[in-house]
Amino acid sequence: MPDSQLSNTPSKIYQYSIISAFLDGQTLHGIPLKDLAKHGDFGLGSFQLADGEMIMLDGKAYHMCYDGSITPVEPSTILPYAMVTFYKPNVTATVAGLLKPDFQKHIEDITPTAKNYFLAIRFDGVLKKLKFRIAKGQDEPGANVMKTITKTQRVIEMEDVEGTMIGFRSPDCYQGITVAGYHLHFIKKDRSTGGHCLDFEIQEGSLGISIIRQIDTELPDTDDFCKANVTVDHEGIVNAE
Ligand SMILES: [Zn+2]
Repeated sequence: MPDSQLSNTPSKIYQYSIISAFLDGQTLHGIPLKDLAKHGDFGLGSFQLADGEMIMLDGKAYHMCYDGSITPVEPSTILPYAMVTFYKPNVTATVAGLLKPDFQKHIEDITPTAKNYFLAIRFDGVLKKLKFRIAKGQDEPGANVMKTITKTQRVIEMEDVEGTMIGFRSPDCYQGITVAGYHLHFIKKDRSTGGHCLDFEIQEGSLGISIIRQIDTELPDTDDFCKANVTVDHEGIVNAE
C-alpha cells in the first residue's frame, strides 16, 4: 500500500451494466432497487427509458423526475444503469469558495496517491451556484440515448442552495464502462429537487472521499444487451454525461 489513505480501504463499487450499453439504448432491462441495495447504500444511476436521474444516499434512493420533483424509489423499480458502494470515507475535509475545476483539483490534491483508483465522493453543504440536468426519457426503448439526451434534458440553475452532491471519479481508462472522470448527482436538503450536476460553485461544506480499488460490473443477461453497440464513443459520453 502506498500510504495510509489506502490502508483502510475495504469498499468496492458494484455497477450494473455499462454506460456504453445504456447510452446505446439498453434502457429497459435492469436490476430492481431491492437487489441493488444489497451492494451499496450510496450511489447514482438511471431509470427505465432514461427517465430522470437516480441518487442513493444513506440507503435511500430517490427518483429525480423530469418535471423537477422527487419521488422515493420503490423496491421493485428497475434500474438499467447504476453504480453503488457502501460509503466509508477515508479522507475528509472542509471546503469553501471553489469553482468546479478547483473542487476537482482539491480532491486530487488531498488524495495524491489515488489518481488511478476510483473515488466515491460526498459533499454536504451550500452551493453558491448550481446547474443540473434531468434526463427526459425516451419514447421507446432501444433508441440511442447519447444522441438525444442533451437535446431533451431539462436544465435547472439555482443559487445559494443547500444539499448533498454525491458520485464517483473513475480512472480515464474506464471510459465506456463507466463515465471517466467525475460523475456527480445533487439532491436538495429538503429533498424537493435534484439531478445530474453540470456545473457548480461551492460556497462551503464538508467533503468526504472513499478511495476504492475494486469494482464489480454485472453485465445484463438479455438478448438486447448481446446486440448492443458497446464501442467507446469518448466524445459522445463526454457530451451526454
Ligand atoms: Zn448522471
